[in-house]
Amino acid sequence: MLFICSKCGRRDWVFVDESPLCSYCGASLVKATESYAGCLMSPEFVLHRMKAVVEKHGSIEAAAGRFKREREACSTALYALGLSEMFGPKKYWVEIETVDQTPDTKVHHIDQSKGYNIVQTQSVEVVDWEQHVADPMELIRAKSRKQYPADYCLLIAARSGKMVYPQVIARDIRKMAVPFAEIWILGQSATNTLNIARLHPTTLQHEFNILEALERVKTDGDVLTRRQRGRETEFVPLGKVYLPIP
Ligand SMILES: [Zn+2]
Repeated sequence: MLFICSKCGRRDWVFVDESPLCSYCGASLVKATESYAGCLMSPEFVLHRMKAVVEKHGSIEAAAGRFKREREACSTALYALGLSEMFGPKKYWVEIETVDQTPDTKVHHIDQSKGYNIVQTQSVEVVDWEQHVADPMELIRAKSRKQYPADYCLLIAARSGKMVYPQVIARDIRKMAVPFAEIWILGQSATNTLNIARLHPTTLQHEFNILEALERVKTDGDVLTRRQRGRETEFVPLGKVYLPIP
């Protein structure tokens, strides 16, 4: 099994021993989590991960099919940050769907203000708006031909480099039937500046600095996992996490 040293960062394969120590510096090793299943990740963790993917493989490779999940998580993390900025201060967590075909991702907000967990979850379908697509309405029409549960959200991640006029898209959406509770679009107009808009059912627009937003929702834990205690589902920090970069 793959482990990483909590101190010096060296990676090693360890067999049998469940709590091994680093053969180099003696610190404890952290076992690699090999799957996204059940991991509720902070937006910061997700964005750092995508950065690591780009650093390891380059931006062209990172845009390829094999990193689709990481990119969808990244778009969802930016969306979650936008929600924090617009409706916060609230902390949102990103989960990648690993079993079902839809949704692509989920955004969770865990409200503990009543002494127990009230989890609000939004299912998200992520679609990349690439450069070769002239009009985002093409994507919205294609997605709207399918059936989705009534509470799903469609998130359009703009990578087209084109100007976006949310009011114009929203007007076109009003002329058609969409199977989504909400439709959002996001894109970066400048380094670290995120522009986000809700296009359906009503329009909302917001612009913010990603680094400042990350600072505002900072938490100690990077990843939460579910633990069943009686009838209640608890969310506990996974502790030190080592999810190897694919
Ligand atoms: Zn070490």
